[in-house]
Amino acid sequence: MRCGALPRTLPETLFEKRVSGLPKNFRARPCVWVCEFEERGIEQAKLNIVKDGDPVLRKVCRPVETVTPRIRTLLDDMIETMRAANGCGLAAPQGGVLRRVVVVECEEGKVIELINPRIIAHAGKQEEAEGCLSVPGRWGITDRPRHVTVRALDRYGNEFDVSGSDLLARCFCHELDHLDGVLFTDKAIRMLEPDEVE
Ligand SMILES: [Zn+2]
Repeated sequence: MRCGALPRTLPETLFEKRVSGLPKNFRARPCVWVCEFEERGIEQAKLNIVKDGDPVLRKVCRPVETVTPRIRTLLDDMIETMRAANGCGLAAPQGGVLRRVVVVECEEGKVIELINPRIIAHAGKQEEAEGCLSVPGRWGITDRPRHVTVRALDRYGNEFDVSGSDLLARCFCHELDHLDGVLFTDKAIRMLEPDEVE
């Protein structure tokens, strides 16, 4: 399909959105994105969250060699998916994409996008409850560093460092584990019983 061509089967409401420049970022996104959007026949750019038991969650993800528009689209889709699911973090394999890409939003509006992230420093220790969008309804106590510094690429391919403490540090550790096929249930000191969860 040619870029910009609208499929005939597109529902009227979606057509309206398309021609009026929505969904958000539509104009800012390059041609290739439009093609992908159409091929997926999407209503939204949300990803299906893969659940525990799916082998995808156990694979080691490949690094991103070049940060292309496609990766930026993936980041956008991951943010939308994370927010729709009320999560504070999402790793690409949870959306079925085996690339080293993570988004985190522990504080509303403060989205941190991480491409090829790695932990370069950590300190302290915390034992707190943790859950996962891929392991719905289950919580466990994990042993994580209190402070973590991550080095990653941003959506334009620039390297940067970001530090976080407490929940943000846990979130960094949790999401980066996903990139190596590790779930919090592997690391939990103990899982919580249903009556321990509010
Ligand atoms: Zn998770």
